[in-house]
Amino acid sequence: MAKLPTVAIVGRPNVGKSTLFNRLVGKKLALVDDRPGVTRDRREGDAVLLGTEFRIIDTAGFEDEDPETLPGRMRAQTTAAVREADAALFIVDARAGITPLDEEIARWLRSEKTPVVLAANKAEGRAGEGGLLEAYALGLGEPIAISAEHGEGVADLYEQLAPFIEREEDPFAEEEEADEANRPLKLAIVGRPNAGKSTLINRILEQERLITGPEAGITRDSIAIDWEWKDAGGNIRPVRLIDTAGMRKKARVQDKLEKLSVADARRAVDFAEVVVLLLDATLGLEAQDLRIADNALQEGRALVIAINKWDVAENASSLFQGIRAALEEGLSQVRGVPLIAVSARTGKGIDQLLSAAFEVRDIWSRRVSTGELNRWFERAVENNPPPAPGGKRIKLRYITQVNTRPPSFVLFGTRVDELPESYKRYLVNGIRKELGFGAVPVRLHARAPK
Ligand code: GDP
Ligand code: GDP
Repeated sequence: MAKLPTVAIVGRPNVGKSTLFNRLVGKKLALVDDRPGVTRDRREGDAVLLGTEFRIIDTAGFEDEDPETLPGRMRAQTTAAVREADAALFIVDARAGITPLDEEIARWLRSEKTPVVLAANKAEGRAGEGGLLEAYALGLGEPIAISAEHGEGVADLYEQLAPFIEREEDPFAEEEEADEANRPLKLAIVGRPNAGKSTLINRILEQERLITGPEAGITRDSIAIDWEWKDAGGNIRPVRLIDTAGMRKKARVQDKLEKLSVADARRAVDFAEVVVLLLDATLGLEAQDLRIADNALQEGRALVIAINKWDVAENASSLFQGIRAALEEGLSQVRGVPLIAVSARTGKGIDQLLSAAFEVRDIWSRRVSTGELNRWFERAVENNPPPAPGGKRIKLRYITQVNTRPPSFVLFGTRVDELPESYKRYLVNGIRKELGFGAVPVRLHARAPK
Protein backbone atom coordinates (compact mmCIF):
# COMPACT_ATOMS: atom_id res chain seq x y z
CA MET A 1 0.00 0.00 0.00
CA ALA A 2 1.15 3.50 -0.69
CA LYS A 3 2.62 5.41 2.21
CA LEU A 4 0.17 7.84 3.78
CA PRO A 5 0.98 11.54 3.56
CA THR A 6 2.47 12.72 6.83
CA VAL A 7 1.84 15.79 8.96
CA ALA A 8 4.17 16.69 11.83
CA ILE A 9 2.69 18.71 14.70
CA VAL A 10 5.20 21.21 16.05
CA GLY A 11 4.96 23.73 18.86
CA ARG A 12 6.16 24.69 22.28
CA PRO A 13 4.85 22.95 25.39
CA ASN A 14 1.23 23.39 26.46
CA VAL A 15 -0.15 24.84 23.25
CA GLY A 16 -2.39 21.79 22.83
CA LYS A 17 -0.46 19.46 20.55
CA SER A 18 -1.44 16.30 22.39
CA THR A 19 -5.04 17.39 22.60
CA LEU A 20 -5.12 17.95 18.85
CA PHE A 21 -3.28 14.70 18.21
CA ASN A 22 -5.80 12.78 20.30
CA ARG A 23 -8.70 14.47 18.56
CA LEU A 24 -7.37 13.66 15.10
CA VAL A 25 -6.21 10.15 15.83
CA GLY A 26 -9.01 9.07 18.13
CA LYS A 27 -8.52 7.89 21.67
CA LYS A 28 -7.84 4.25 20.96
CA LEU A 29 -4.96 4.78 18.60
CA ALA A 30 -3.33 7.42 20.74
CA LEU A 31 -1.69 4.70 22.79
CA VAL A 32 1.05 4.19 20.16
CA ASP A 33 3.15 6.09 22.65
CA ASP A 34 3.73 2.96 24.65
CA ARG A 35 5.09 0.79 21.88
CA PRO A 36 8.60 -0.31 22.69
CA GLY A 37 11.16 1.38 20.51
CA VAL A 38 9.02 4.45 19.94
CA THR A 39 10.51 7.28 21.88
CA ARG A 40 8.07 9.34 23.88
CA ASP A 41 8.97 12.49 22.05
CA ARG A 42 7.49 11.23 18.84
CA ARG A 43 3.99 9.83 18.93
CA GLU A 44 2.59 8.67 15.63
CA GLY A 45 -0.86 7.66 14.57
CA ASP A 46 -3.23 7.47 11.62
CA ALA A 47 -5.47 10.51 11.59
CA VAL A 48 -8.66 11.23 9.70
CA LEU A 49 -9.81 14.72 8.85
CA LEU A 50 -13.10 15.03 6.95
CA GLY A 51 -12.60 11.61 5.47
CA THR A 52 -8.98 12.07 4.38
CA GLU A 53 -6.51 9.77 6.02
CA PHE A 54 -2.98 10.75 6.83
CA ARG A 55 -0.24 9.93 9.26
CA ILE A 56 0.31 12.36 12.06
CA ILE A 57 3.37 12.77 14.23
CA ASP A 58 3.24 14.65 17.50
CA THR A 59 6.74 15.91 18.04
CA ALA A 60 7.78 17.11 21.42
CA GLY A 61 11.27 18.15 20.54
CA PHE A 62 10.93 21.57 22.07
CA GLU A 63 9.46 20.34 25.28
CA ASP A 64 12.18 19.13 27.52
CA GLU A 65 14.91 21.28 26.28
CA ASP A 66 16.22 24.63 27.17
CA PRO A 67 15.38 26.79 24.15
CA GLU A 68 18.81 28.39 24.48
CA THR A 69 20.53 25.12 23.69
CA LEU A 70 18.85 24.20 20.50
CA PRO A 71 20.82 21.19 19.35
CA GLY A 72 20.27 17.90 21.04
CA ARG A 73 18.59 14.61 20.53
CA MET A 74 15.04 15.85 20.98
CA ARG A 75 15.51 18.74 18.65
CA ALA A 76 17.14 16.44 16.10
CA GLN A 77 14.13 14.15 16.21
CA THR A 78 11.75 17.01 15.61
CA THR A 79 13.87 18.22 12.74
CA ALA A 80 13.89 14.76 11.22
CA ALA A 81 10.12 14.43 11.63
CA VAL A 82 9.52 17.77 9.92
CA ARG A 83 11.89 16.98 7.07
CA GLU A 84 10.16 13.68 6.41
CA ALA A 85 6.67 15.16 6.64
CA ASP A 86 4.55 16.45 3.78
CA ALA A 87 3.52 19.37 5.96
CA ALA A 88 4.32 20.78 9.37
CA LEU A 89 1.39 21.85 11.49
CA PHE A 90 2.71 24.58 13.73
CA ILE A 91 0.53 25.19 16.79
CA VAL A 92 0.60 28.36 18.84
CA ASP A 93 -1.56 29.28 21.81
CA ALA A 94 -4.09 31.98 20.90
CA ARG A 95 -4.75 32.72 24.56
CA ALA A 96 -1.15 33.05 25.67
CA GLY A 97 -0.09 34.97 22.55
CA ILE A 98 3.19 34.67 20.73
CA THR A 99 6.28 33.96 22.80
CA PRO A 100 9.99 34.19 21.92
CA LEU A 101 10.09 30.40 21.60
CA ASP A 102 7.24 30.55 19.07
CA GLU A 103 9.27 33.06 17.08
CA GLU A 104 12.31 30.86 17.29
CA ILE A 105 10.36 27.86 16.00
CA ALA A 106 8.85 30.00 13.23
CA ARG A 107 12.29 31.15 12.11
CA TRP A 108 13.47 27.59 11.97
CA LEU A 109 10.37 26.39 10.08
CA ARG A 110 10.73 29.17 7.52
CA SER A 111 14.21 27.89 6.71
CA GLU A 112 12.99 24.34 6.18
CA LYS A 113 11.60 23.12 2.88
CA THR A 114 8.55 21.44 4.38
CA PRO A 115 5.39 23.50 3.87
CA VAL A 116 3.97 24.93 7.08
CA VAL A 117 0.36 25.34 8.17
CA LEU A 118 -0.02 27.64 11.15
CA ALA A 119 -2.84 27.14 13.66
CA ALA A 120 -3.68 29.21 16.72
CA ASN A 121 -5.23 26.85 19.24
CA LYS A 122 -7.54 27.57 22.18
CA ALA A 123 -9.32 30.08 19.96
CA GLU A 124 -12.81 29.26 21.18
CA GLY A 125 -14.60 32.30 22.52
CA ARG A 126 -13.15 35.79 22.49
CA ALA A 127 -10.07 35.17 24.60
CA GLY A 128 -8.11 33.99 21.59
CA GLU A 129 -8.54 36.99 19.32
CA GLY A 130 -5.40 38.85 20.34
CA GLY A 131 -3.11 35.86 19.98
CA LEU A 132 -4.60 35.06 16.59
CA LEU A 133 -3.68 38.50 15.26
CA GLU A 134 -0.19 38.28 16.75
CA ALA A 135 0.35 35.00 14.92
CA TYR A 136 0.33 36.80 11.56
CA ALA A 137 3.64 38.31 12.54
CA LEU A 138 5.30 34.89 12.44
CA GLY A 139 5.58 35.23 8.67
CA LEU A 140 4.04 31.86 8.01
CA GLY A 141 0.85 32.99 6.37
CA GLU A 142 -2.63 33.22 7.72
CA PRO A 143 -3.12 31.43 11.04
CA ILE A 144 -6.16 29.21 11.32
CA ALA A 145 -8.18 29.61 14.47
CA ILE A 146 -8.86 26.24 16.05
CA SER A 147 -9.92 24.74 19.32
CA ALA A 148 -8.53 21.27 19.76
CA GLU A 149 -10.52 20.80 22.91
CA HIS A 150 -13.86 21.82 21.42
CA GLY A 151 -13.31 20.61 17.88
CA GLU A 152 -13.64 24.05 16.30
CA GLY A 153 -11.91 25.11 13.09
CA VAL A 154 -11.65 21.59 11.78
CA ALA A 155 -12.95 22.55 8.34
CA ASP A 156 -10.43 25.38 8.02
CA LEU A 157 -7.66 23.12 9.19
CA TYR A 158 -8.65 20.61 6.57
CA GLU A 159 -8.80 23.30 3.91
CA GLN A 160 -5.23 24.34 4.63
CA LEU A 161 -3.82 20.84 4.98
CA ALA A 162 -5.68 19.42 2.00
CA PRO A 163 -3.11 20.35 -0.67
CA PHE A 164 -0.51 18.35 1.25
CA ILE A 165 -2.51 15.35 2.37
CA GLU A 166 -4.88 14.93 -0.57
CA ARG A 167 -2.19 13.87 -2.91
CA GLU A 168 -2.85 13.42 -6.58
CA GLU A 169 -1.90 9.97 -7.79
CA ASP A 170 1.81 10.19 -8.57
CA PRO A 171 2.79 7.56 -11.12
CA PHE A 172 6.41 7.75 -10.03
CA ALA A 173 5.78 7.80 -6.30
CA GLU A 174 7.38 4.51 -5.36
CA GLU A 175 10.57 5.47 -7.13
CA GLU A 176 10.97 8.80 -5.44
CA GLU A 177 12.67 7.12 -2.52
CA ALA A 178 15.42 5.69 -4.66
CA ASP A 179 18.60 7.66 -5.07
CA GLU A 180 17.81 10.29 -7.67
CA ALA A 181 21.04 9.92 -9.61
CA ASN A 182 20.75 6.15 -9.86
CA ARG A 183 17.12 6.03 -10.74
CA PRO A 184 16.70 5.33 -14.43
CA LEU A 185 15.70 8.38 -16.43
CA LYS A 186 12.39 7.59 -18.10
CA LEU A 187 12.77 9.04 -21.53
CA ALA A 188 10.49 9.17 -24.55
CA ILE A 189 11.40 10.44 -27.99
CA VAL A 190 8.43 11.79 -29.87
CA GLY A 191 7.87 13.70 -33.05
CA ARG A 192 6.26 13.67 -36.45
CA PRO A 193 6.78 10.72 -38.77
CA ASN A 194 10.15 10.85 -40.49
CA ALA A 195 11.63 13.27 -37.99
CA GLY A 196 14.23 10.57 -37.37
CA LYS A 197 13.07 8.96 -34.12
CA SER A 198 13.97 5.39 -35.06
CA THR A 199 17.30 6.46 -36.46
CA LEU A 200 18.05 8.39 -33.29
CA ILE A 201 17.06 5.52 -30.99
CA ASN A 202 19.16 3.09 -32.98
CA ARG A 203 22.09 5.47 -32.98
CA ILE A 204 21.83 6.02 -29.23
CA LEU A 205 21.68 2.31 -28.56
CA GLU A 206 24.46 1.21 -30.86
CA GLN A 207 27.05 3.73 -29.67
CA GLU A 208 28.98 2.08 -26.88
CA ARG A 209 25.79 2.18 -24.84
CA LEU A 210 25.11 -0.87 -22.85
CA ILE A 211 21.66 -2.33 -23.04
CA THR A 212 21.11 -3.72 -19.59
CA GLY A 213 17.59 -4.98 -19.49
CA PRO A 214 15.27 -7.25 -21.39
CA GLU A 215 12.52 -5.54 -23.27
CA ALA A 216 9.54 -5.21 -21.01
CA GLY A 217 6.12 -4.40 -22.39
CA ILE A 218 4.74 -1.07 -21.27
CA THR A 219 1.56 -1.22 -23.30
CA ARG A 220 0.49 -3.67 -25.93
CA ASP A 221 2.48 -1.90 -28.61
CA SER A 222 5.35 -0.30 -26.83
CA ILE A 223 8.48 -1.55 -25.16
CA ALA A 224 10.95 -0.13 -22.70
CA ILE A 225 14.64 -0.47 -23.28
CA ASP A 226 16.97 -0.21 -20.31
CA TRP A 227 20.46 0.96 -21.00
CA GLU A 228 23.24 3.00 -19.50
CA TRP A 229 24.75 6.22 -20.66
CA LYS A 230 28.21 7.37 -19.66
CA ASP A 231 28.11 11.11 -19.04
CA ALA A 232 30.95 13.58 -19.60
CA GLY A 233 32.22 12.98 -16.06
CA GLY A 234 32.43 9.25 -16.74
CA ASN A 235 29.41 8.47 -14.54
CA ILE A 236 27.12 5.65 -15.54
CA ARG A 237 23.56 6.97 -15.81
CA PRO A 238 20.77 4.45 -16.28
CA VAL A 239 18.10 5.29 -18.82
CA ARG A 240 14.81 3.63 -19.62
CA LEU A 241 13.71 4.50 -23.10
CA ILE A 242 10.23 3.91 -24.38
CA ASP A 243 9.88 2.78 -27.92
CA THR A 244 6.32 2.74 -29.21
CA ALA A 245 5.27 0.52 -32.04
CA GLY A 246 4.48 3.51 -34.19
CA MET A 247 8.07 4.58 -34.09
CA ARG A 248 9.24 1.35 -35.60
CA LYS A 249 6.44 0.25 -37.89
CA LYS A 250 5.67 2.30 -40.92
CA ALA A 251 2.11 2.65 -42.08
CA ARG A 252 1.39 3.22 -45.72
CA VAL A 253 -1.12 5.98 -45.63
CA GLN A 254 0.22 9.35 -44.62
CA ASP A 255 -3.02 10.34 -42.92
CA LYS A 256 -2.90 7.29 -40.70
CA LEU A 257 0.67 8.07 -39.87
CA GLU A 258 -0.17 11.51 -38.64
CA LYS A 259 -2.78 10.14 -36.28
CA LEU A 260 -0.51 7.37 -35.18
CA SER A 261 2.29 9.66 -34.20
CA VAL A 262 0.08 11.87 -32.03
CA ALA A 263 -1.40 8.84 -30.26
CA ASP A 264 2.08 7.37 -29.84
CA ALA A 265 3.35 10.59 -28.45
CA ARG A 266 0.56 10.62 -25.88
CA ARG A 267 1.30 7.09 -24.78
CA ALA A 268 4.98 7.83 -24.54
CA VAL A 269 4.32 11.00 -22.58
CA ASP A 270 2.29 9.06 -20.02
CA PHE A 271 5.26 6.90 -19.34
CA ALA A 272 8.05 9.44 -19.46
CA GLU A 273 9.60 11.85 -17.01
CA VAL A 274 11.39 13.64 -19.80
CA VAL A 275 10.03 13.94 -23.32
CA VAL A 276 12.33 14.70 -26.23
CA LEU A 277 10.46 16.31 -29.09
CA LEU A 278 12.38 15.68 -32.28
CA LEU A 279 12.02 18.25 -35.06
CA ASP A 280 13.26 17.91 -38.62
CA ALA A 281 15.72 20.68 -39.54
CA THR A 282 14.83 20.37 -43.20
CA LEU A 283 11.15 21.01 -42.51
CA GLY A 284 11.13 23.49 -39.63
CA LEU A 285 8.39 23.79 -37.10
CA GLU A 286 4.80 22.75 -37.79
CA ALA A 287 1.53 22.91 -35.90
CA GLN A 288 1.72 19.22 -35.06
CA ASP A 289 5.06 19.73 -33.30
CA LEU A 290 3.49 22.39 -31.12
CA ARG A 291 0.57 20.10 -30.31
CA ILE A 292 2.94 17.38 -29.16
CA ALA A 293 5.01 19.84 -27.10
CA ASP A 294 1.87 21.35 -25.61
CA ASN A 295 0.55 17.93 -24.64
CA ALA A 296 3.81 17.00 -22.89
CA LEU A 297 3.81 20.24 -20.89
CA GLN A 298 0.10 19.98 -20.07
CA GLU A 299 0.81 16.56 -18.66
CA GLY A 300 3.48 18.13 -16.50
CA ARG A 301 6.43 16.43 -18.12
CA ALA A 302 9.88 17.93 -18.54
CA LEU A 303 10.61 18.68 -22.18
CA VAL A 304 13.71 18.91 -24.34
CA ILE A 305 13.44 19.89 -27.98
CA ALA A 306 15.96 18.51 -30.45
CA ILE A 307 16.39 19.64 -34.04
CA ASN A 308 17.46 16.59 -36.01
CA LYS A 309 19.22 16.20 -39.36
CA TRP A 310 21.57 19.00 -38.46
CA ASP A 311 24.10 17.41 -40.83
CA VAL A 312 22.04 18.59 -43.79
CA ALA A 313 20.71 21.83 -42.29
CA GLU A 314 21.36 24.95 -44.31
CA ASN A 315 22.07 28.30 -42.74
CA ALA A 316 22.45 26.62 -39.42
CA SER A 317 22.52 29.56 -37.07
CA SER A 318 19.61 31.48 -38.55
CA LEU A 319 17.64 28.24 -38.77
CA PHE A 320 18.23 27.63 -35.07
CA GLN A 321 17.19 31.15 -34.07
CA GLY A 322 14.19 30.94 -36.38
CA ILE A 323 12.97 27.70 -34.81
CA ARG A 324 13.46 29.05 -31.30
CA ALA A 325 11.49 32.18 -32.13
CA ALA A 326 8.70 30.21 -33.80
CA LEU A 327 8.49 27.85 -30.81
CA GLU A 328 8.22 30.67 -28.32
CA GLU A 329 5.69 32.46 -30.41
CA GLY A 330 3.58 29.35 -30.84
CA LEU A 331 3.76 28.19 -27.25
CA SER A 332 4.87 30.59 -24.54
CA GLN A 333 5.48 27.77 -22.03
CA VAL A 334 8.40 26.44 -24.08
CA ARG A 335 10.41 29.54 -23.23
CA GLY A 336 13.42 28.23 -21.37
CA VAL A 337 13.09 24.64 -22.60
CA PRO A 338 16.48 23.39 -23.89
CA LEU A 339 16.77 23.38 -27.67
CA ILE A 340 19.55 21.20 -29.06
CA ALA A 341 20.80 20.53 -32.56
CA VAL A 342 21.46 16.84 -33.24
CA SER A 343 22.15 14.48 -36.07
CA ALA A 344 20.91 10.95 -35.63
CA ARG A 345 22.95 10.08 -38.70
CA THR A 346 26.35 11.32 -37.48
CA GLY A 347 25.75 11.16 -33.74
CA LYS A 348 26.36 14.88 -33.28
CA GLY A 349 24.71 16.46 -30.25
CA ILE A 350 23.43 13.22 -28.76
CA ASP A 351 25.50 13.42 -25.58
CA GLN A 352 24.41 17.00 -25.18
CA LEU A 353 20.82 15.91 -25.60
CA LEU A 354 21.10 13.22 -22.93
CA SER A 355 22.87 15.55 -20.58
CA ALA A 356 20.09 18.14 -21.03
CA ALA A 357 17.51 15.43 -20.36
CA PHE A 358 19.12 14.56 -17.01
CA GLU A 359 19.43 18.23 -16.16
CA VAL A 360 15.77 19.01 -16.74
CA ARG A 361 14.77 16.00 -14.70
CA ASP A 362 16.77 17.42 -11.78
CA ILE A 363 15.00 20.75 -12.11
CA TRP A 364 11.67 19.00 -12.49
CA SER A 365 12.33 17.17 -9.19
CA ARG A 366 13.65 20.20 -7.34
CA ARG A 367 12.19 21.67 -4.17
CA VAL A 368 12.77 25.29 -3.26
CA SER A 369 12.75 26.24 0.42
CA THR A 370 9.69 28.03 1.77
CA GLY A 371 11.97 30.83 2.91
CA GLU A 372 13.53 31.46 -0.51
CA LEU A 373 10.15 31.09 -2.18
CA ASN A 374 8.45 33.62 0.05
CA ARG A 375 11.28 36.13 -0.15
CA TRP A 376 10.79 36.07 -3.90
CA PHE A 377 7.00 36.10 -3.49
CA GLU A 378 6.94 39.21 -1.32
CA ARG A 379 9.00 41.10 -3.88
CA ALA A 380 6.88 39.86 -6.77
CA VAL A 381 3.66 40.96 -5.08
CA GLU A 382 5.15 44.27 -4.05
CA ASN A 383 6.35 45.02 -7.58
CA ASN A 384 3.02 44.13 -9.08
CA PRO A 385 0.16 43.92 -6.57
CA PRO A 386 -2.84 41.78 -7.50
CA PRO A 387 -5.87 43.56 -8.96
CA ALA A 388 -9.05 44.30 -7.04
CA PRO A 389 -11.92 42.80 -9.05
CA GLY A 390 -15.17 44.60 -8.27
CA GLY A 391 -13.25 46.95 -6.00
CA LYS A 392 -12.55 44.18 -3.50
CA ARG A 393 -8.96 43.50 -2.68
CA ILE A 394 -7.34 40.12 -3.21
CA LYS A 395 -4.85 39.56 -0.44
CA LEU A 396 -1.92 37.28 -1.17
CA ARG A 397 -0.18 36.04 1.92
CA TYR A 398 1.94 33.05 1.31
CA ILE A 399 3.02 30.52 -1.26
CA THR A 400 4.34 27.03 -0.79
CA GLN A 401 5.69 24.27 -2.97
CA VAL A 402 3.48 21.26 -2.41
CA ASN A 403 4.95 18.90 -4.92
CA THR A 404 7.71 18.16 -7.40
CA ARG A 405 7.72 16.32 -10.73
CA PRO A 406 6.39 18.77 -11.88
CA PRO A 407 7.02 21.55 -9.38
CA SER A 408 3.61 22.55 -7.99
CA PHE A 409 2.80 25.51 -5.82
CA VAL A 410 -0.18 26.57 -3.76
CA LEU A 411 -1.04 30.17 -3.10
CA PHE A 412 -2.77 31.22 0.10
CA GLY A 413 -4.66 34.37 0.85
CA THR A 414 -8.02 35.98 0.77
CA ARG A 415 -10.13 35.71 -2.39
CA VAL A 416 -7.26 34.02 -4.21
CA ASP A 417 -9.78 31.98 -6.14
CA GLU A 418 -10.73 35.19 -7.94
CA LEU A 419 -7.19 35.85 -9.07
CA PRO A 420 -7.18 36.44 -12.85
CA GLU A 421 -5.30 34.00 -15.06
CA SER A 422 -3.01 36.79 -16.20
CA TYR A 423 -1.82 37.35 -12.63
CA LYS A 424 -1.23 33.64 -12.10
CA ARG A 425 0.80 33.65 -15.30
CA TYR A 426 2.82 36.56 -13.92
CA LEU A 427 3.64 34.49 -10.83
CA VAL A 428 4.36 31.31 -12.78
CA ASN A 429 6.71 33.22 -15.06
CA GLY A 430 8.46 34.63 -12.01
CA ILE A 431 8.85 31.19 -10.46
CA ARG A 432 10.29 29.88 -13.69
CA LYS A 433 12.61 32.79 -14.39
CA GLU A 434 13.71 33.85 -10.95
CA LEU A 435 13.72 30.60 -9.00
CA GLY A 436 15.41 28.47 -11.60
CA PHE A 437 12.46 26.42 -12.83
CA GLY A 438 12.68 27.92 -16.33
CA ALA A 439 13.15 24.67 -18.19
CA VAL A 440 10.12 22.82 -16.85
CA PRO A 441 6.36 23.24 -16.55
CA VAL A 442 5.20 24.76 -13.26
CA ARG A 443 1.77 24.41 -11.67
CA LEU A 444 0.14 27.00 -9.48
CA HIS A 445 -3.04 26.41 -7.53
CA ALA A 446 -4.87 29.06 -5.62
CA ARG A 447 -6.83 28.20 -2.53
CA ALA A 448 -8.96 30.43 -0.42
CA PRO A 449 -9.78 29.41 3.13
CA LYS A 450 -13.53 29.30 3.70
P1 GDP B 1 1.00 20.04 24.44
O1 GDP B 1 1.96 20.20 25.55
O2 GDP B 1 1.27 21.02 23.34
O3 GDP B 1 0.85 18.65 23.94
O4 GDP B 1 -0.43 20.52 25.04
P2 GDP B 1 -1.63 19.66 25.64
O5 GDP B 1 -2.40 19.02 24.55
O6 GDP B 1 -1.12 18.77 26.71
O7 GDP B 1 -2.53 20.83 26.21
C1 GDP B 1 -2.06 21.73 27.18
C2 GDP B 1 -3.23 22.32 27.94
O8 GDP B 1 -4.04 23.12 27.07
C3 GDP B 1 -4.17 21.26 28.51
O9 GDP B 1 -4.58 21.68 29.78
C4 GDP B 1 -5.33 21.25 27.55
O10 GDP B 1 -6.53 20.86 28.16
C5 GDP B 1 -5.39 22.69 27.10
N1 GDP B 1 -5.99 22.83 25.78
C6 GDP B 1 -5.70 22.11 24.67
N2 GDP B 1 -6.47 22.52 23.63
C7 GDP B 1 -7.25 23.51 24.09
C8 GDP B 1 -8.26 24.34 23.50
O11 GDP B 1 -8.62 24.23 22.33
N3 GDP B 1 -8.84 25.28 24.30
C9 GDP B 1 -8.48 25.44 25.60
N4 GDP B 1 -9.08 26.39 26.28
N5 GDP B 1 -7.54 24.67 26.18
C10 GDP B 1 -6.93 23.72 25.46
P1 GDP C 1 10.84 8.34 -37.72
O1 GDP C 1 9.64 8.15 -38.55
O2 GDP C 1 10.74 9.56 -36.90
O3 GDP C 1 11.19 7.13 -36.92
O4 GDP C 1 12.05 8.64 -38.71
P2 GDP C 1 13.19 7.69 -39.25
O5 GDP C 1 14.19 7.40 -38.23
O6 GDP C 1 12.57 6.52 -39.94
O7 GDP C 1 13.90 8.65 -40.30
C1 GDP C 1 13.21 9.19 -41.41
C2 GDP C 1 14.22 9.49 -42.49
O8 GDP C 1 15.10 10.54 -42.06
C3 GDP C 1 15.11 8.31 -42.87
O9 GDP C 1 15.30 8.33 -44.24
C4 GDP C 1 16.42 8.62 -42.14
O10 GDP C 1 17.54 8.06 -42.77
C5 GDP C 1 16.46 10.11 -42.20
N1 GDP C 1 17.23 10.67 -41.07
C6 GDP C 1 17.06 10.40 -39.77
N2 GDP C 1 17.95 11.10 -39.02
C7 GDP C 1 18.70 11.82 -39.89
C8 GDP C 1 19.82 12.72 -39.74
O11 GDP C 1 20.28 13.04 -38.64
N3 GDP C 1 20.33 13.29 -40.85
C9 GDP C 1 19.84 12.98 -42.08
N4 GDP C 1 20.39 13.57 -43.12
N5 GDP C 1 18.80 12.14 -42.26
C10 GDP C 1 18.25 11.55 -41.20
